[in-house]
Amino acid sequence: MGLTTVTAKQLEVQRIVDVLSRGVAQHRLRPGTRLIEAQIVDTLQANRNHVQVALQRLAMQRIVTIEPNRGAIIAQPSAREAREVFAARRAIERAIVESISAQTLHEQRERIAQHMANERQATTSSDRRLIVRELSEFHLLLAQLSGNAVMAEILDNLMVRSSLIVALYQRNDVPACASNEHQQILDALSAGDQALAVQVLMAHLDELENQLALDEPTAPEVNLREALAGL
Ligand SMILES: [Zn+2]
Repeated sequence: MGLTTVTAKQLEVQRIVDVLSRGVAQHRLRPGTRLIEAQIVDTLQANRNHVQVALQRLAMQRIVTIEPNRGAIIAQPSAREAREVFAARRAIERAIVESISAQTLHEQRERIAQHMANERQATTSSDRRLIVRELSEFHLLLAQLSGNAVMAEILDNLMVRSSLIVALYQRNDVPACASNEHQQILDALSAGDQALAVQVLMAHLDELENQLALDEPTAPEVNLREALAGL
């Protein structure tokens, strides 16, 4: 067993993790979907052992839930977890925006312009998956611009979990992010006004969270006696 063997296995596990994460991020794999091992092995042309390791890794990232005797399913975050994910996003995205300088924005202007063009094009299409992908891509782009790989990695995980949350709790079918708010964040950063960028971003994240039905009571308690009385 040389080093290359280990690396090949790690790369293969990472490939499976990436494919499944992307499936969740693009709303192809919905919360509660059963992940049948044999089907993943087949579809991804992967080794069974690698698939198991990938599913365990995704379980540690809270993207998959492994249930005894039932196997793996795509996670179904609770309303409480949803609020905690948004609180974590506010903390991490604030730090990300605070570490992007006007100079970085200038140096990366072509890449940013390309993204904003893709985002605008997506929002005029009717392809909901494409819209969802491009809009969340903006938040990941900010993380990359921050140059902090650890924060980018944390946000990657939070964005995949946000996709699950949106799939479960979004009140309506309106795309989650408004593209003009993204532009306002960039404009503030270009002007070197990080405080304003943070302010717009925080309002943006509040709005995203407000679009979720997290406070609605789950199935109301029915009092059987009362319900049957007088019938
Ligand atoms: Zn957004």
